[in-house]
Amino acid sequence: MKLFTYISQKLFLFSVMLSLIVTGSVYGKSKYVTVGTGGLTGVYYPTGGNIAKIINKKKKEYGIRMSVESTAGSVYNINALMSGDLDFGIAQSDRQYQAVNGLAEWKKKGPQKKLRAICSFHSEAVTLVAASKSKIGSIDGLKGKKVNIGNPGSGQRGNAVDVLDTAGLSWKKDIRAESLKASEAPKMLQDGRIDAFFYTVGHPSGAITEATSGREKVKFVDITGMDNLLKKYPYYTKTKIKVSDYPTVTNKKDVDTVGVTATFVTSADTPDDVVYAITKELFENLEPFKKLHPAYAQLTKENMLKGISAPLHPGAAKFFKEAGLMK
Ligand code: GLU
Repeated sequence: MKLFTYISQKLFLFSVMLSLIVTGSVYGKSKYVTVGTGGLTGVYYPTGGNIAKIINKKKKEYGIRMSVESTAGSVYNINALMSGDLDFGIAQSDRQYQAVNGLAEWKKKGPQKKLRAICSFHSEAVTLVAASKSKIGSIDGLKGKKVNIGNPGSGQRGNAVDVLDTAGLSWKKDIRAESLKASEAPKMLQDGRIDAFFYTVGHPSGAITEATSGREKVKFVDITGMDNLLKKYPYYTKTKIKVSDYPTVTNKKDVDTVGVTATFVTSADTPDDVVYAITKELFENLEPFKKLHPAYAQLTKENMLKGISAPLHPGAAKFFKEAGLMK
């Protein structure tokens, strides 16, 4: 009997050890990290996939395994980083600024002190897409129309509200606002269930291709008259949407609008060596990375250090100093 107990105890210990080895938590030293992105038809989701592709190639060297999660967007990602539910996230530069300074969505909660920046990616245009038959020619034309401003948790919702506000329209009173995810909006527009939608996104993106290539004719609406917005908020810049990115859209000329930048963020709790390794691999593989999505066409190492308002994560700062990108 004693021998039996002894053997079963040993067997139990053995199986515990084995499972620890398999999951890598003891001997494999694998670190599992997750990056929060956005909807499947945006640019954040493929961007997360591209970062993961680069870092997972070196899993033997660093022991890092990155997985990608489709999420509600920028605001969700920042909140999930702060609660420890995500390790990395992609977020609009305006959302990064607001979170760090305790503004907008973070007014009640206050400054998000643990938010850390790594770098910037592509620029994102505040994109207003309308059904041609809705005859919406400007922001003003949205009055009384059914307009998707975006789901709570997304980055675009705040941009839509800002733009409407600057044009003197209240999103609560002057339009019939919907709170759909960006991935749902193109079909709703094609089906005639909404007249227009806002999406802050890099171009080209799957969602806009979907919205503009259906049976229903679709156009971009210029977002102009935004001088007050540009003066009031440091993170907006003027930008254009190239119509050549969407061959079936009815616009003939490139579209004027305002934009922000997609940024890569993490938490102060993410270990320095993990952030260092990811930053290094990303920057040292920038050329192959740029080939993975046309929205990255303008990326350079230097401009990837712009558009940041949270403190740099020490792991990223260490790499930038070594690479001579920062003093
Ligand atoms: N800018 C959007 C957001 O913050 C996401 C865009 C994308 O997924 O590419 O929610």
